[in-house]
Amino acid sequence: MGKPNFELIRHDVVERVLLEVDQIYHLACPASPIHYKYNPIKTSKTSFLGTMNMLGLAKRCRARFLISSTSEVYGDPLQHPQEETYWGNVNPVGERSCYDEGKRVAETLTMDYHREHGLEVRIVRIFNTYGPRMALDDGRVVSNFVAQALKNEPLTVYGDGTQTRSFQFVTDLVKGMVAVMDGAHVGPFNIGNPGEFTMLELANLVKEVVNPKATIEFRENTSDDPSRRRPNITKAKEILGWEPKVALRDGLAMMVQDFKKRLGLGA
Ligand code: UDP
Repeated sequence: MGKPNFELIRHDVVERVLLEVDQIYHLACPASPIHYKYNPIKTSKTSFLGTMNMLGLAKRCRARFLISSTSEVYGDPLQHPQEETYWGNVNPVGERSCYDEGKRVAETLTMDYHREHGLEVRIVRIFNTYGPRMALDDGRVVSNFVAQALKNEPLTVYGDGTQTRSFQFVTDLVKGMVAVMDGAHVGPFNIGNPGEFTMLELANLVKEVVNPKATIEFRENTSDDPSRRRPNITKAKEILGWEPKVALRDGLAMMVQDFKKRLGLGA
């Protein structure tokens, strides 16, 4: 923030904006289910109009444009692990559709600007990511479990806890996105950690790392919750030489230090 050539602008991407830029990392969109379902029409507008506005900006400036897409484009996947060539299994009329379909159309717009206008574009499909400085009330499973374990509250497992996710540490994601932006290939690239865990395995790992006395409480699951998710990252490995470095256990420990401080529990 203190750098003389850094400028922070608060702006809603749904509205047009005129700037001079060389590269655009287009990340704007709520990504936690509780947040994107809170105002679903705005979520769709953000992905559609927001992406169109940012593509328009990129076209005017001849800037390179990176869209942050998501593993949610695969929906409740029938292929496992998911490769970039898989077209997905997505409900177009469900509660998650504003996010899933929003990101799918954002990818479509990105490719059409590329084909129609020769725009330089990059597509990254981000898998579940966690780490320090994540909002305490983000609502996603890792931040929920860590905060709950630290506060001696029960860990809330939705459904029977047999659904799986693959969790990537934030620094691995940032390096992956920069590698895609600076590389020569459009993508899409899966950027995620292939280490796959059931929610019960995650809860037990959080207990072990954070608070062995923590208990588990089962809650009703949300609709259209994908039953499994794991990236195939061969493409990113082979083309970009990128792969994640931080194991879940180590990443959790770094997150705990930060959450303790912010929850006022001392480091
Ligand atoms: N989940 C859970 N407890 C929580 C929050 C989420 O068991 O307190 C489950 C959720 O049902 C899903 C998985 O954890 O199966 C990942 O959910 P999250 O919201 O973190 O990310 P998603 O992959 O759904 O975007």
